[in-house]
Amino acid sequence: MRHGSIPGTRGHVRPLTLLGDPLLHAPCEEVTDYGPELARLVEDMFATMYAANGVGLAANQIGVPLRVFVYDCPDDEDVRHVGHVVNPRLIEADGVVLRGPEGCLSLPGLEAGTERYDRAVVEGFTVDGEPVRVPGTGWFARCLQHECDHLDGGVYVDRVTGWRHRRVMRQAARAPWNRRSTAAPH
Ligand code: ZN
Repeated sequence: MRHGSIPGTRGHVRPLTLLGDPLLHAPCEEVTDYGPELARLVEDMFATMYAANGVGLAANQIGVPLRVFVYDCPDDEDVRHVGHVVNPRLIEADGVVLRGPEGCLSLPGLEAGTERYDRAVVEGFTVDGEPVRVPGTGWFARCLQHECDHLDGGVYVDRVTGWRHRRVMRQAARAPWNRRSTAAPH
């Protein structure tokens, strides 16, 4: 890969929106302007995702309520997938349902067993308006479903059930990044 083509190298790291931020819990709007602003947004999203050691990031996680996500994520065969999708639609999600550990840059340091389909296909557009189709399996299929959820105002903990849900919400309430944290200051 040519150095200049590595995504995010020209981007700026932006602050992450965290659980409880209204932007994270509201559906994002369709992108209608495929101009330089959109390309800059995608660059900033890559820079922010890499700085936080994430495998995927949705635009509302940096406070921009537009339907865009980026990813740099391996699948279960260790094939690396890198890209972005504008106005993505999850057109297929099937195969076996697997519960696996899932985390999110908007709930730093936490994870919980979350059920996802083992296979997913997303269709959308590049920043240039070219159609793209992104199929994924395993861990990458999980990532695609996770990012599509974000753009609909969903967070993975919404899909966690029972004691797992109670535990992760308790951990979130106590987390140092939570402004309503009940943890003692240190
Ligand atoms: Zn997330």
